[in-house]
Amino acid sequence: MNRPYNFSAGPAAIPVEVLQQAAAEMLDWQGSGMSVMEMSHRGKEFISIYEQAEADLRELLAVPPEFKILFMQGGGLAENAIVPLNLSRAATVDMVVTGSWSQKSQKEARKYAAEVRVAASGEASGFTTIPDPASWQLSRGASYLHLCSNETIHGVEFQELPDLKALGSDAPLVIDFSSHVASRPVDWSRVGLAFGGAQKNLGPAGLTLVIVREDLMGHALPACPSAFDYKTVADNQSMFNTPPTWGIYIAGLTFQWLKRQQEGDATGVAALERRNIAKADRLYGYIDQSQLYLNKVAVTARSRMNIPFFLRDESRNDAFLAGAKQRGLLQLKGHKSVGGMRASLYNAMPMEGVEALIAYMQEFERQHA
Ligand SMILES: *Cc1c(COP(=O)(O)O)cnc(C)c1O
Repeated sequence: MNRPYNFSAGPAAIPVEVLQQAAAEMLDWQGSGMSVMEMSHRGKEFISIYEQAEADLRELLAVPPEFKILFMQGGGLAENAIVPLNLSRAATVDMVVTGSWSQKSQKEARKYAAEVRVAASGEASGFTTIPDPASWQLSRGASYLHLCSNETIHGVEFQELPDLKALGSDAPLVIDFSSHVASRPVDWSRVGLAFGGAQKNLGPAGLTLVIVREDLMGHALPACPSAFDYKTVADNQSMFNTPPTWGIYIAGLTFQWLKRQQEGDATGVAALERRNIAKADRLYGYIDQSQLYLNKVAVTARSRMNIPFFLRDESRNDAFLAGAKQRGLLQLKGHKSVGGMRASLYNAMPMEGVEALIAYMQEFERQHA
């Protein structure tokens, strides 16, 4: 099926096979006579969808048995409150600020944690770098350290998660992996909790994924809403209240799609990682040699998923975007806080989409040289 290429940062493109299967099953899911949206979350049909999705995700991300997978609501922004409500234990929280999203997390945590300290910040560089972990000011006895492992707006990504133990800290690491979940493997030996909204790389908005080490649950502040207490959610298999059933279903179809993907001898997330490296290398390579386009992020901190770029002559932005849309290249406008353009190359974006974008960028460059 010939659809435009959608470069949206989120909600974002979903693999067409997933959309087609959801369409085919819309009125009657596998002979049940019901749409998934109409099913009881406690019925055997939905339970089978849920259990398959959880098992597939555990396999895809190689989540160790001591971690619980929670399917929640509220999005990444709600987790900015839910994490400190569950994990801060009236102690100091450390934050690494590398862009808009971790900045928001830091502000929200101040409402709930006894104290929030910024252990490191990339602000002085305009959020184009990631401060070297060896330079981070870690608090003694911090209840956790939070970072955003892929900054969707500034296009900054941790290529490796910090080893807090090696840096002399016992604090568990909390990562907001909303915008690169399932694009690369996760080193769970370095992580205590990971959270992310589904709408960037896994499915529709409304589903929030939390993967949390068991020993970190059960210490929520008394004011924590029951529906947001990780222990309560985990003890009820994410069904303390009605979970986002449609989101879990579509994410489950996406997990099946991911499991079918292959690149050489790699499958699943490893295959997607190869593809994502190739796509990002291709686009950064083109931008870097160009006289018209510019990406300002330090090479070692560049995101594979979200690539902000600028025209050296910003007065041509609208013309660039209008021409892109005409050619079926959608949602390339940069975030308003950064300006310029942004191409998000999530798992569902094929290399052909990147090639089509580059072909248009070359054409535009020839016209405006
Ligand atoms: C999109 C995004 C969020 C916000 O998610 P909501 O679902 O809008 O709450 C949080 N963190 C990151 C890194 C994001 O990309």
